[in-house]
Amino acid sequence: MSIKSYDVVIIGAGIAGAMTAFQIAKYTTKLAVVEAGVDAASGSTRANSAIVHAGYDAKEGTLKAKLNVKGCSMMEEITTQLGVHYKKCGSLVVAFDEKDLEQLEILKKRGEENGVQGLEIIDKARLFEMEPNISTKAKYALYAPSAGIVCPYDLAYAACENAAVNGTDFYFEFKVDEIDYDGKYYTLFAGDKEAIRAKYVINCAGLYADEIANMVGDPLPFEIIPRRGEYMLLDKCEASTASHTVFVTPSDKGKGILVSPTVDGNIIVGPNANIIEAKNDTSVTMEGLEEISEGARLLMPEINLDAVITTFAGVRSTPTSGDFYICESERFKKFIHVAGIESPGLASSPAIGEYVLELLKKCGLKLKKREDYIPTRTKEGNIKPFYAMNEEERKEAIVKDHRYAKIVCRCEMITEGDIVYAVNRPIPARTIDAVKRRTRAGMGRCQGGYCRTRVAEIMARELGINVSEITKFSSNSHILLGKTK
Ligand SMILES: Cc1cc2nc3c(=O)[nH]c(=O)nc-3n(C[C@H](O)[C@H](O)[C@H](O)COP(=O)(O)OP(=O)(O)OC[C@H]3O[C@@H](n4cnc5c(N)ncnc54)[C@H](O)[C@@H]3O)c2cc1C
Repeated sequence: MSIKSYDVVIIGAGIAGAMTAFQIAKYTTKLAVVEAGVDAASGSTRANSAIVHAGYDAKEGTLKAKLNVKGCSMMEEITTQLGVHYKKCGSLVVAFDEKDLEQLEILKKRGEENGVQGLEIIDKARLFEMEPNISTKAKYALYAPSAGIVCPYDLAYAACENAAVNGTDFYFEFKVDEIDYDGKYYTLFAGDKEAIRAKYVINCAGLYADEIANMVGDPLPFEIIPRRGEYMLLDKCEASTASHTVFVTPSDKGKGILVSPTVDGNIIVGPNANIIEAKNDTSVTMEGLEEISEGARLLMPEINLDAVITTFAGVRSTPTSGDFYICESERFKKFIHVAGIESPGLASSPAIGEYVLELLKKCGLKLKKREDYIPTRTKEGNIKPFYAMNEEERKEAIVKDHRYAKIVCRCEMITEGDIVYAVNRPIPARTIDAVKRRTRAGMGRCQGGYCRTRVAEIMARELGINVSEITKFSSNSHILLGKTK
């Protein structure tokens, strides 16, 4: 059998790879995305604060600053195009004393130099009007009206789905472990999977971008340090806690603990920032939860942390250089690194995709616009979940497919129709967690206690397999091992 050949292969379907695929898929370029995980957004993109930062944190003149401000300004249009829930809620950095105020002034000046619009330092009275639950010890805040919130994995899924409907091939569980170059093609190997090859390769492997670089014998000029951030997610009944993303004044350790609404109506609290040994260590610790609880209470002493419904952690790929590294390899032509994409990688991602496209052009890739380009997630447009439909849309959905009348997840009002669609989408869900992230079934107060087995049954029926073959998050995380009776 002849080896599959592409013009471009992207390694990694996190938000950087997804947004790059979204941009390239506007053209007739033969494109593939290979991903080690069973699904898109398997790395840092899956678990982070979900903030579309305005762009005052990154040092003036850095690539990070430039792409953050640009990405933030592009977010509204892209999320509208792809039917992704995004909210420009604005952010507040809170100062408790005059020393913090000096820091706010530095951030404001930096933000203005970076091109952030509308930054203001507000006084206590205005701060309390905007966030009544803030500590009475707070004195000032830096208000950034252009900051927002978005669901990171939904944005990555949407970008991948759009690329898929525009002809991009996706290979999951394809963990690149060797790369050969014959002067024309890069051949990518992944265990016993059939190899694929491409003229251009884009390394969007997140925490593992250094390992990919080493495979082509072109080590990155910095180290990638894994830094874990732990979180608590509060029940929707606490939604009135905050309506903006509220940060403490940043320190050497980073942006610090925040309290923020999520686009789905919960409150997110976290993250801390601790260097860890293993890049895949997403465990949540007692000390970590204490650290973030303390940070949250500093901002909002009355916050109801008893309303926590789940905890989780994500790992940042922090570059020792302090900046994003997006460039063609010096040693190997047509091999592009997109590495060191720590925060604000999510906020910057629309601009990262555009930047890589320009880089590909400079590296010689000829682009021809796709005449049959589909701008949405499917040929039929962006399909709304049942909970987001209005009464008319709900009636219509039920008439077309009676499975929209059966509620499976009571906490989040997810129907059987939503789950069936998740399994049949352009990038289909193949695990319980993949269904959960696409639909929100299992994301509510009971965290799947009620619906998980029902979801597994629907998946098994749709996929034509036995329910014992359904897994939670990977190909070997089975939830049913056999009959007890
Ligand atoms: C705690 C935390 C909080 C954050 N908060 C924010 C925030 O509020 N706002 C913001 O803008 N940013 C935030 N970030 C940063 C943001 O999450 C990242 O910048 C972004 O997700 C990086 O995307 P990526 O595509 O580069 O990497 P990833 O999402 O890690 O994607 C890389 C992908 O490559 C795949 N891969 C790895 N090795 C291989 C291989 N050998 N073969 C094939 N595939 C491979 C992985 O499975 C993974 O899916 C935060 C990050 C963390 C961890």
